Amino acid sequence: MESKTDFLVIGSGIAGLSFAIKAAKSGSVAIITKRRRASQPPTTRKAA
Ligand SMILES: Cc1cc2nc3c(=O)[nH]c(=O)nc-3n(C[C@H](O)[C@H](O)[C@H](O)COP(=O)(O)OP(=O)(O)OC[C@H]3O[C@@H](n4cnc5c(N)ncnc54)[C@H](O)[C@@H]3O)c2cc1C
Repeated sequence: MESKTDFLVIGSGIAGLSFAIKAAKSGSVAIITKRRRASQPPTTRKAA
């Protein structure tokens, strides 16, 4: 799947989110987080 964005932020800590807010004034922003949605727990993988 191909997706285009002006700014790509990896991580939703204070640095990433504050940059995303500022960058959104200049273009589209995509954020890669470890959670699928804010209301869901982090994705985990079980060891075999
Ligand atoms: C115990 C403790 C107490 C602290 N107390 C204070 C305080 O009182 N005052 C203060 O000013 N600072 C405090 N700090 C420091 C503060 O937490 C950090 O300086 C600040 O959070 C750094 O922000 P950041 O956005 O750079 O990183 P983070 O907040 O660590 O954010 C990074 C984000 O990137 C995500 N991430 C990482 N890898 C990936 C990946 N591969 N894919 C997707 N997402 C990823 C992480 O899950 C996280 O959400 C404290 C730190 C600790 C550990």
